[in-house]
Order: sequence, then structure tokens, then C-alpha cells
Amino acid sequence: MPIRIINYKQKGKIFNMQRFSIHDGPGIRTIVFLKGCPLKCDWCSNPESQDPLVQIMFNEKNCIECGKCEKNCPVGAIDMLRHGRIDREKCTSCGVCADNCYPGGLVKSGEETTVEKVMTELKKETIQFRRSGGGVTLSGGELLMQPEFAIELLKACKSMGWHTALETTGYASEETIDKIMPWVDLVLLDIKHLDDEKHKKYVHVSNELIVKNAKKIAATGKELIIRVPVIPQFNCDEKSISDIAKFAKSLNGVQHLDLLPYHKLGANKYENLGLDYTMGQEIKTPDEDTMNNFKKIVEEYGLECTIGG
Ligand code: SF4
Ligand code: SF4
Repeated sequence: MPIRIINYKQKGKIFNMQRFSIHDGPGIRTIVFLKGCPLKCDWCSNPESQDPLVQIMFNEKNCIECGKCEKNCPVGAIDMLRHGRIDREKCTSCGVCADNCYPGGLVKSGEETTVEKVMTELKKETIQFRRSGGGVTLSGGELLMQPEFAIELLKACKSMGWHTALETTGYASEETIDKIMPWVDLVLLDIKHLDDEKHKKYVHVSNELIVKNAKKIAATGKELIIRVPVIPQFNCDEKSISDIAKFAKSLNGVQHLDLLPYHKLGANKYENLGLDYTMGQEIKTPDEDTMNNFKKIVEEYGLECTIGG
């Protein structure tokens, strides 16, 4: 689709930009993580991605107990003696405490930015993108929660001739999918479970929209890769994986499915945000034999399969 106008002033919220990624699309890529997610997966390794607002993370290990944050907070939300330090009910996310905490005891997660500012950063990688055939992947959170920002950013990337990819849960209105797809080369779509009751219990939303959008994206003919987080007690069994592989195979053009074994890497962030890690510390990463068995099941459906994406 020809690009007529790009709104470089379009605002959006991001919480991270990761350079030199090689797992989320072809070549060397920069991943832009957009803030906010309508899903609440119990195993989420980026819990700071879920809330659309800027959040403050407290990392006790970095705190030198100087007391500046308590003194500076305009609404009295910080108490040096309080477990977790911040009264989250009172906190207005103004960021004053984090901006003045040099040791990194308090850190802001998320910032309001514009397409223009993000592009200034991305342009520093132009040569890498060109040499490697890489580009930009938008991720989250759920990037489709900020469709205007995502679309303008993708248009700006396409105007530079870069490859564009989305890493998405697919949880968005059909209208959003229709509007964004012309600017996308590759979609990495999470399918977590086909049993809606289980989906609702662990992901806290129905899978209906996701399944519908998977078919819609496939029908566009754009490259589509299905990603499955393999989570103990949720979908870490042959039937769940087989059901997803069968569904993936039924989607127009899908040739590849990634199996992503559960890990606990983000567990400590829950405490930093004053949240509970409901998965429980005792849950283990699925072992190699289990993952290889699932890979075989996926391949029996005629799909290529990678463990770990
Ligand atoms: S300003 Fe930072 S280092 Fe000082 S007490 Fe607060 S969190 Fe700790
Ligand atoms: S973000 Fe603002 S309101 Fe919240 S704890 Fe820090 S200084 Fe107080």
C-alpha cells in the first residue's frame, strides 16, 4: 500500500527497546516493546508490560537507604519502613522518585514517546538492518492495544524499506487487524490453548477472538509463525500441543511453529512491582525429553518446529 502521510507526532507508550535480536524475525532486529496488555498470563515474564500506565519498580538490592524518595514523593506514597516501599494505591506514577534515585533502587517502567523519537533510535541501526536483511519487530505487552501508534511506527519503518514484524497475542478488534496488516511482513502469533475454559483460567480472557484473528491474519497471505509457550499445568501435555499443531496446520500458509518452554526469568519483577507471582516458585521448566516429544508431535502435522523460537 503506498504511504501517503506518516504522523511522526503520534504518541505511544513503550517500556523497552532491544537491539541486536536474532529470534524475532529475519536478520538483525530491534524489538520495540509497547506497554499495556489485555491478557494476564500467570507465567508472564514481563509483568511490567501489562499495565498501560508508567509503573515504578522497587529493587531493594540497589537501594542505599538515602531516604530521598520518601522526602520527594509529592503524595506521600513512599514509606521507608513499608514492605515493597510504595503504597501503590496512592502512587500517581509521576516518576519523581525514580528520576532522582541514582543507585537504581526505584526505576520507571514505561515512557511516553512519539513515532519520531523511536525512529531516531531505530535509524542508528539502518546499516545493520540493510546488511542482515533485518528490521523492526513490535512486541509488548500487546502492541495492538496502541493501534494508532503501532500503525504510524510501522509505516515509518516501511518508508525506510525495513522488514517489519509483529509479536502478538492476536487479542484485538478485527478492525485493528485489518488496519495494521498492510504494514506488516511477518506475524509471530501466540496460540496458548484451544480449550477456552483453560484459556480463561490461566490467561484470564477467552481465546475466541484470538482464534478468529489467527484465521483472519492467515487469510491475508502474509508470513505467519505460530508460537506456543509450553507451560506446566496449563498446556504441557500431548493433547494440548497436538490440538494447537492441528489448528496451526489448518491456517493458510503456516509452515512453522515455535515451542517456547516455560522459564522463571521474570519472577523477581513481580515483587519489584508489588504483585504476586501466582505460578508458584516450585513449577519447573519442561525437560528436554518432553520438549523433543512435543516437537515430534508438531512435525507429524507437517510443520517445521523450533524449540525456543
Ligand atoms: S532514593 Fe533510591 S536509593 Fe535512596 S532510599 Fe529511595 S530507593 Fe533507596
Ligand atoms: S512515582 Fe511519584 S507518586 Fe509514585 S511513589 Fe514515586 S514520587 Fe511518589
